[in-house]
Amino acid sequence: MITGKNYIGNSLSAKGNKTYTTFNPQANTENKTIFTEATSEEINDAVDLASEAFKAYQRISGAKKAAFLNAIADEIIALDDELIQTYMSESGLPEGRAKGERGRTIGQLRMFAELLTEGSWVEARIDPAQPNREPNPRVDLRKMLTPIGPIVVFGASNFPFAFSTAGGDTASALAAGCSVIVKSHPMHAGTGEMVAAAILKAAQKTGMPNGVFSNLNSSGIEVGQQLVQHPKVKGVGFTGSIRGGRALYDLAAKRKEPIPVFAEMGSINPVVILPKALETKAETWAKTYASSITLGTGQFCTNPGLLLGIQSDDLTTFAAKLSDEIVQIAPQCMLHPNIHSSYQNNKEKAQQHENVKTLADLDIAVAENYAKQAVVTVDGKTFLENNQLHHEVFGPFSLLVQCENEAELEKVIADLEGQLTGTIISEENEISAYTNVIKALSNRVGRIIFNGVPTGVEVAPAMQHGGPYPASTDSRFTAVGQDAIKRWVRPFSYQDWPNELLPDALKNENPLGILRLIDGKQTRETL
Ligand code: NAP
Repeated sequence: MITGKNYIGNSLSAKGNKTYTTFNPQANTENKTIFTEATSEEINDAVDLASEAFKAYQRISGAKKAAFLNAIADEIIALDDELIQTYMSESGLPEGRAKGERGRTIGQLRMFAELLTEGSWVEARIDPAQPNREPNPRVDLRKMLTPIGPIVVFGASNFPFAFSTAGGDTASALAAGCSVIVKSHPMHAGTGEMVAAAILKAAQKTGMPNGVFSNLNSSGIEVGQQLVQHPKVKGVGFTGSIRGGRALYDLAAKRKEPIPVFAEMGSINPVVILPKALETKAETWAKTYASSITLGTGQFCTNPGLLLGIQSDDLTTFAAKLSDEIVQIAPQCMLHPNIHSSYQNNKEKAQQHENVKTLADLDIAVAENYAKQAVVTVDGKTFLENNQLHHEVFGPFSLLVQCENEAELEKVIADLEGQLTGTIISEENEISAYTNVIKALSNRVGRIIFNGVPTGVEVAPAMQHGGPYPASTDSRFTAVGQDAIKRWVRPFSYQDWPNELLPDALKNENPLGILRLIDGKQTRETL
């Protein structure tokens, strides 16, 4: 049952008087449950509890933490159809997507559980003492990754499961050994509360300390601001707008003790379409991109919002075919009336630019909160001169920039802000003639794709989901895949520390049997 209350560790609490409801965009009605925003006192209680819990949780073995993560996955599955229905009623997303995203969320939890069970992720390094080294003896040094402390996770509007309450940020932070306080996203507070209850049930079943996880409601920026400024909070995970992410990043930097904010924000994911690729396959690529632009109503961080090509008859044909294809696709519901109205506004703003030409804009009556997909086009010079055209239009929208020549194409790419992904559409050997274009694109993105689409982010060790600012606040890290755990740890060295007092990962006997770097060599051997 959804109570509308906050979880301060294992206890439900609703001391405040600021309330709100969620909205069903498909039915265009408010949902019934009333949620109570966390008060300043409740925020402090949750952080104090998280800080206490961290002391115990960081010392719990990897095997036990893995059992906790697997138990969360089991408890989420046990919520079954009620959870799926709640997700749908708060997001307008269809059942298939809800189930798919739940599968991904469970997969992420189990992936981190496996990583902990195997154990080598802590990057243990041992440089044994050399007492007889000349001219100076060498000390015994042992280093590994250690958790940084309580983490605040901001749930994302566009992924109520996979980037929210038990999503990638929470799963990776819990795996790292950090306690977590979720700032629930107001658009799907009921889904968030159900998942929070599952996490807490799993925590109790597997003997985790009270406060290892809390879930706070809010429908304004104050709760998040207080959390980020709280001295006992040591890191932040965020997915959302550039404005929101940047505000939180600045707030964290201004603290007496600045802390890292790993914000994954806007991206328009440029797609470079090379000339020969269009000679024979214009229709195929037009179909493929019509689907990719409209997938999930364009509400993906990897949505292809920018298509780049060199002016030619084939590019004109591609533009016409893409326009034909995209209007064939049935319109879909957006996450919330606010997201829908910003989509409409941002789309119209782009369309109103004097040199921007609308190629396609769905021209049929649609239900409330349903988006009308659109493709617009502009020349390279106008694009270069008008920075506002570089901004994300969150929704089923793409801008085709028609460059005069290869040099202008390279300039357009080099002028872009940082992006999550970049894609090259090419005939087999064509790409080798565009070295400068590839280099320019590689410098702006975190992941480069050959003859594919940017939508669809595989959760795998080699995935990079993060890129130069503003795609993310720190391009050295990823928000997806095993390496997401590295955001919540710091390297820590022991010098001449007694063997029995070392963590298991660094003991001579290697009781965990993990892979370690001993004297520069990777090995599972004992010392
Ligand atoms: P958002 O406005 O950035 O909000 C995300 C979360 O951060 C919310 O919980 C919000 O709190 C909080 N927040 C925002 N600004 C804050 C501030 N200055 N201080 C403290 N907390 C702050 O994103 P959204 O609600 O998910 O969606 C709005 C827009 O973000 C979309 O239209 C889209 O443009 C963009 N977006 C982009 C991506 C992407 O992956 N590229 C993903 C999602 C959204 P409250 O809601 O409680 O105020």
